[in-house]
Amino acid sequence: MSSSLPNSQCVNTCKSTQAKTIGIAGAGLLGRLLAWKLLQQGYKVTLFDRGSRAAELSAAKVAASMLAPYSEVVSAERKVFDWGRMALSWWPKELAALAQMTGQHVDFATDGSIVIAHDLDKSSLTNFEHQLREKVPDCAEYIECIERDRLAVLEPELAERYCGGLFLAEEGYLDNEALLHSLVLGITALGGVWCEYTEVERVTAGRIHLATQQHCFDVAIDSRGMGAQAQLPALRGVRGEVLWVHAPEVSLQRPVRLMHPRYKLYISPRSGQRYVIGATEIESESMQPVTVRSSLELLSALYSVHSGFAEATVLHAYAHCRPAMPDNLPIIHSEPGLLRVNGLYRHGYLLSPYVVESALKKLIDCNDLATEINH
Ligand SMILES: Cc1cc2nc3c(=O)[nH]c(=O)nc-3n(C[C@H](O)[C@H](O)[C@H](O)COP(=O)(O)OP(=O)(O)OC[C@H]3O[C@@H](n4cnc5c(N)ncnc54)[C@H](O)[C@@H]3O)c2cc1C
Repeated sequence: MSSSLPNSQCVNTCKSTQAKTIGIAGAGLLGRLLAWKLLQQGYKVTLFDRGSRAAELSAAKVAASMLAPYSEVVSAERKVFDWGRMALSWWPKELAALAQMTGQHVDFATDGSIVIAHDLDKSSLTNFEHQLREKVPDCAEYIECIERDRLAVLEPELAERYCGGLFLAEEGYLDNEALLHSLVLGITALGGVWCEYTEVERVTAGRIHLATQQHCFDVAIDSRGMGAQAQLPALRGVRGEVLWVHAPEVSLQRPVRLMHPRYKLYISPRSGQRYVIGATEIESESMQPVTVRSSLELLSALYSVHSGFAEATVLHAYAHCRPAMPDNLPIIHSEPGLLRVNGLYRHGYLLSPYVVESALKKLIDCNDLATEINH
C-alpha cells in the first residue's frame, strides 16, 4: 500500500530537529541498501518507488545475483575485481545484521564457482583462463584448473559429462529475492517510510519532485537505476533475460558458467533445487518480455550442461535492463543536498557494497552531516 503524503507545493517529509532527513528516489538494490545503512546511523529516511515493496520493477529483482569478481573481470576493468572482492566480506556482515533484526536468513555462499566448456569449445575456456590470469596475476591461487576427479568432488553431477574445467574458489551468490524482502523488513523496523507506487519526475538538491508536489529533505538521493535516464543522459540500458527453473533432478551447489563462442550461460542455484538461468546481454533498452530466441538459446544450453534439466519446470521468465554508463562503471555524484548513484550495469550485487560505502562517505562529507547524528 502506498503511504499517503499531504498534497502541497513542498512537503517537509520527516523534518526533525534531531536527525537529518533523507529522501530516496528508487527503492531497488541501491535505494534499499542506502536506506538500511542510513537508518542504522540514525537518519530519517523516506523511500519513493514507482513499484511496490516487492521490487517488481527493479533490475535487482531480475538479477541472478552472482558474486563473480573473477568471471566478470575478464571483460571489465581491474577496478571491478578489486571493488567486487570487497563484497565477499561485506555481505556476510550486513546479512548477519539484517538477520538479527528481522529473524530472516538470506542464502549467501562463497564456496566458489565452476566454469566449463564442451569439448568443441575448449578454446573458449582456455582463452578465458589466460585472460583471467593476465588480469589478476596476484590472485592465481584462487584460480584452479581442475580435472574430472576434482570436479567429481566439487560438483559430482557435472563430472558425468565434463572432464574438467576451472574452479574459481572465491566466487559465490546470494538469494536476491530473500535479500530484497529482508531489507523491507529491516528498513520498516528502523522506521523507514515507504511511498510505493509513486512516480518521481526529478531529483534535485534537497527535493524529490512528483507530478504535483515536491518533498523536501536535507539530502535527496537519486537511485532510480534506468528510471533516472532523463537526468543522466549518458545512462543506457543493457537488456538481460533470465529464466527461473525448478529442477528436482539436478543438484548443483555452486554457480556454473558454460563457455560458448556465442553466449555465456550461467546457472545460479537457489534453495529448493531452483536455479536462475542467465543471461543474455543485448545492447537494447527494450523491456519487452523474454523472446523465443533467448528462451531457446538459454534452455538448449542448459540442457546441454545437465540432462536432468529436461524435466525442470520454468517458474519465471524475466527481462530487464542493466543501468550502464559509457564506461560500464558506477557513478557516485555528490553535492550539497544531493547524491546520485547509478550505473551498476551487470555488477549490482558485486559492486553495491563498494558503491554504498563510498556514497555514504561522500554524502556525509559533502553535507557535513556526521556531527549531528546519534548525538
Ligand atoms: C538479467 C540481469 C541479470 C543480472 N545479474 C547480476 C548478477 O548476477 N550479479 C550482479 O552483481 N548483478 C547482476 N545484475 C545487475 C543488477 O541487477 C543491477 O546492477 C542492479 O539491480 C542496479 O541497481 P539499482 O538500484 O541501480 O537499480 P534497480 O535495482 O533497477 O532499482 C531502481 C528502482 O528505481 C525505481 N524507479 C525507477 N524509476 C523511477 C521513478 N521515475 N520513480 C520512482 N521509482 C523509480 C524502480 O522501480 C526500481 O525499484 C543483473 C541484471 C540483470 C537485468
